[in-house]
Amino acid sequence: MPSILNADLHCHSVVSDGTLTPEALAARAAANGVELWALTDHDEIGGQHRAAAAAREQGMKYLTGTEISVTFANETVHIVGLGFDPDDAAMTEGLYDTRGGRGKRALEMAEGLAKVGIHGAYEGALKFVGNPELISRTHFARFLVEQGHCRDTSEVFRKFLTEGKPGYVSHRWATLKDAIRWITDAKGLAVIAHPGRYKFTANEEYALFLEFKEHGGRAIEVVTGSHTTAEYAEYADKALEFGFAASRGSDFHSPDESHCDLGKLPWLPGKLTPVWELLEHRIQ
Ligand code: AMP
Ligand code: MN
Ligand code: MN
Ligand code: MN
Repeated sequence: MPSILNADLHCHSVVSDGTLTPEALAARAAANGVELWALTDHDEIGGQHRAAAAAREQGMKYLTGTEISVTFANETVHIVGLGFDPDDAAMTEGLYDTRGGRGKRALEMAEGLAKVGIHGAYEGALKFVGNPELISRTHFARFLVEQGHCRDTSEVFRKFLTEGKPGYVSHRWATLKDAIRWITDAKGLAVIAHPGRYKFTANEEYALFLEFKEHGGRAIEVVTGSHTTAEYAEYADKALEFGFAASRGSDFHSPDESHCDLGKLPWLPGKLTPVWELLEHRIQ
């Protein structure tokens, strides 16, 4: 596997908060020139067999994927798992438990929104949900846009769904240690998703990287749709500093919402070890 490879190892389908089916995503990825693909739905691996089959049909290589919600230092951190066994029982159970709090959280989010005059948000968000176990803030954002409260989902997040805003409910997700253990025990590799997006101090980020490594984490996303060009360079340096391999992924959710399309990313900087080099034996 060459270092210059159109790998897209981060995106979402209707099985979590994307708007396309695994099959439609695979077709779009292939049309955009993706050679190695992974579907990484939030806290869910129910789409993995469909995605692998669709990748095969489209002539792409495939790695299994997921993006696990973790609470670290009172912040939500996302850990991508790649190349694990999609039928692993402990991982399936761990993700099931991680999804478990979402229903109650959604009802509380709707209560918060009702207090500022936005009624019926729970039922409204549900209309956009593809997987009843995976109601997310994104589905609320789509409802608020549909109702004309905001122009786009980014505006909804800014005004309603982030800390301190009426629809925000703090939530305790999986621990970092458990998420990494589920992935690695299932023969996969753990990756810190979009490290530039967390509101950590330098010390907190250092602690995250160190603990992640101690628990067996091996890579960070460097080139992602969630990073600026400056952050590509910043996290390339940090990958080298901490001895992490590097991943590349668009974090594509929807043709209408995502600014970064599948496979349309800059190459990984050549000095880095691409994560797919460590996962050759897990590629389908
Ligand atoms: P949840 O897992 O329910 O907390 O939802 C998290 C999801 O919300 C992320 O995976 C993104 O898809 C989406 N999201 C988070 N922040 C933003 C933002 N500022 N603009 C648009 N979407 C966002
Ligand atoms: Mn998402
Ligand atoms: Mn994420
Ligand atoms: Mn994502």
